[in-house]
Amino acid sequence: MEEKIREILSGVIHPETQEDIVAAGIVESISTDNGKTVVMLCFPKPRDPFAARIRTQAQQMIERAIPDMKGNVTVVVKEAAPRPQQPQRESTTRSVRHVIAVASGKGGVGKSTVTANLAIALRNMGYATGILDADIYGPSQPKMFGIEGYVPDAVQQDGNDYIVPAQSLGIELMSIGFFIRPEDALMWRGAMATNAIKQLLHQTLWGPLDYLLIDMPPGTGDIHLTIISELKLDGAVIVSTPQQVAVADVVRGVQMFRHPQVNVPVLGIIENMSWFTPKELPDNRYYIFGRGGARRYAAECDAPFLGEIPIIQSIMEGSDEGRPSSLDDPQVEEYYRTVAARIVENTPEKC
Ligand code: ADP
Repeated sequence: MEEKIREILSGVIHPETQEDIVAAGIVESISTDNGKTVVMLCFPKPRDPFAARIRTQAQQMIERAIPDMKGNVTVVVKEAAPRPQQPQRESTTRSVRHVIAVASGKGGVGKSTVTANLAIALRNMGYATGILDADIYGPSQPKMFGIEGYVPDAVQQDGNDYIVPAQSLGIELMSIGFFIRPEDALMWRGAMATNAIKQLLHQTLWGPLDYLLIDMPPGTGDIHLTIISELKLDGAVIVSTPQQVAVADVVRGVQMFRHPQVNVPVLGIIENMSWFTPKELPDNRYYIFGRGGARRYAAECDAPFLGEIPIIQSIMEGSDEGRPSSLDDPQVEEYYRTVAARIVENTPEKC
C-alpha cells in the first residue's frame, strides 16, 4: 500500500521547483497503524507558501485513487526548523492590505505606464499606495516618478536589515532599477535576478499601504514564479493592447495565475492604446490596433474587463517627464480612476 501511495504522490508537482514531491524528498514518511495511514510531508523551505495547497492536493489524489482510504488517510505537513538568519517570509508586506500584480504578455504594451497612473488614481481615491518595480528587463518606474538617481537607505530594525522605499508624488516606490544600470538589466540572469528580487520582496520597509502594485516583467518566467511563491498576491491584472490580447503570451499569463497550485485571482484585463483621437478632430476615434479585442478576450477567458485607456500624448509625455499624466490631466485621470475603481471592487477583502 505504501508503494501505491508513493506512486500516487509522484503525480503531485511543486509549482515552484516543478519537481514531483516524491523525487524532491518532500514525502518524508508513510506509515499505517490500525488501518489508519499517515503521510508526513516535510518541505525543505521553512513556511513554504505552497505547503497547504500541496497537502490538500495529496490528500485528494490518494482518496480519489483509492476510495477505500477516504477517512482513513491523513496528510500532515511537518514544519522544517526555520533558519534563524533568513528574513521571515512576507515580513515586509505585512503592513500592506492588498498586493496586486500588474502583468502583460509582451513588453511595450504600456504595463509600466498603466501601473504608475493606476497608483496615482488609487492615491487620489484616498488609498495609501506603493509600487514595487520588479521589471528586471526594463525597470522604468524611477524615470516615471522622476527619481532615477535615488539610492535607497539601509536601516536596521530588531536586528534585521531593511531598505527604505523612495517617496514620490505620494507613492512609495521600490525598484530593481535603483540597484542596476538599465544597460546592465539584460545581462541579469537566473539566480542573480531571482535573489535580487527576493531581497526587494523581503527587505523593503513598506509603510502601512492599502495597495501595493507590482510591475511584473513581461511574459512568464522565473521572476514571476519567485514573486508568486514568495508573496501572497491578492490578485493580478493583465494589461494588453487590442491586437496583442489573444496572443499566446497573454493566454499563458492568465493560465499561470489561474494554475490550481498558484491560484491568484485574475481581477481583470485592461486594454491600453484602445484608440487614438487627434486634437483637431476631438469626436473621432481611430481604432488603429483593432477594436474591442481585450473586451472579447476577457469574456472568452471569463475575466472581468476593467476598461480602456486610449492613446493620449500627455500619457507618453508624462512618463518621459517623470510625472504620470493622471496628476495633471483630468481626462486621463478619469480613465485610470474608472479602471482603479473596478480593481478595488474586484479585490477580495481580507478578514
Ligand atoms: P511596458 O511596461 O509594457 O514595456 P511602457 O509602459 O514602458 O510599456 O510603455 C511603452 C511606451 O508606450 C512608453 O513610451 C509609454 O509612454 C507609451 N504609452 C503607454 N501607454 C500609452 C498611452 N495610453 N498613450 C500614449 N502612450 C502610451
